[in-house]
Amino acid sequence: MAQKTGFTTSILHADREGAIEHGSLHKPLHVSVAYGYRDARELVNVFQGKAQGYAYGRQGNPTAAALEEKMNRMEDGVATVCFSTGMAAIGAIMLALLRESDHVVSSAFLFGNTNSLFETLAAHGNEVSFVDATDVRAVEQALRPSTRMVFVETIANPRTQIADLSRIGNLCASRGIVYVVDNTMTTPYLFRPKNVKASLIVNALTKYIGGHGNALGGAVTDTGNFDWTRFSNIHDVYKGPKPALWGITQIRKKGLRDWGGTLSPEQAHHLAVGAETLALRMDRACANAQSLADSLAAHHRVRAVYYPGLGSHPQHALARELFSGYGALLSFELDPNLDCFDFLNRLKNVVLSSNLGDNRTLAIPVAHTIFYEMGAERRASMGIADSLIRISVGIEDLDDLLGDFAQAMG
Ligand SMILES: *Cc1c(COP(=O)(O)O)cnc(C)c1O
Repeated sequence: MAQKTGFTTSILHADREGAIEHGSLHKPLHVSVAYGYRDARELVNVFQGKAQGYAYGRQGNPTAAALEEKMNRMEDGVATVCFSTGMAAIGAIMLALLRESDHVVSSAFLFGNTNSLFETLAAHGNEVSFVDATDVRAVEQALRPSTRMVFVETIANPRTQIADLSRIGNLCASRGIVYVVDNTMTTPYLFRPKNVKASLIVNALTKYIGGHGNALGGAVTDTGNFDWTRFSNIHDVYKGPKPALWGITQIRKKGLRDWGGTLSPEQAHHLAVGAETLALRMDRACANAQSLADSLAAHHRVRAVYYPGLGSHPQHALARELFSGYGALLSFELDPNLDCFDFLNRLKNVVLSSNLGDNRTLAIPVAHTIFYEMGAERRASMGIADSLIRISVGIEDLDDLLGDFAQAMG
């Protein structure tokens, strides 16, 4: 569908471009697990993928499909598949596309659970190299003949390192390697990985796209950049007439039908409503994050602040060039004389929580919680100090936000 309208207009009106049911402005919640057909021929055609339709709820539902269409527009993709969580989306990519002994090069600066998933893959016979993805040379040096995939995040959590996104894209394109970019921190509103030659894009919809902390979901978008005829791990049954769809078809079949990581219609509805205001919320949260980062950086009791919008950030120039905003996540280290737990306990509006991308500002001491399981050595290699506090900045009124931090500093 040709799409000439702007980012938000396109999301708001996407549902009405399909068949409108009862004049409804939102795609309705279709909760049926099973579907009926006019005749046996239609049933067979739906099952064989020759006709549009639904076979069984595990393989998708119309409400989730409407969200897939919106995500696909946002990322300007060829096709998008939604999943029950961001991790289900990432897991589906790995399960669907990797075979025994295949090698993956991943950024070392990684969402903790993705890191843990890679350890599982290693135990199942894949090989994974973790490298400093802020430097394309580290990625290039890690490549092997068996490398099938490079995986990076745009802005890493919690230290906000930014991958060398375009150079890695050029490298992967020249070597015929699948390039997966987790766009959760930037969202398609701030950055389109398609423009740096990403093959597949992951979005954890749970975070900024849903935005309200009330629904889990994930998405994988195929940008159309990768030539799947060059990829040895596609099963013959998924080699349909359009090679551009081979990869995403295999991800859909394995991830939904075989692994059951399906997004429910109720969650899809929540996420789709959240997505309508993504641009407004991101603008506000990014502006709040910049002000908070500036004020923390100027505070005498703060030892270090990590935020791509600060001139002191090592990839500040890169972020300015690639993204239309610096994101809404920052982290900082307090003066060692100030106990980080005491500080957290003094916060009043800021919620102590592990989520991010919520409308509310959330804080968490990462070394003791979400990055605890990986151990001190791996934390040190990711630049995570024991006193590091991660802040997911929300959309509160700025004075309330800054005031809360100021009083908690004591
Ligand atoms: C949260 C997150 C995920 C996983 O998303 P869930 O919906 O929580 O499974 C993946 N990648 C990044 C960068 C995230 O922040």
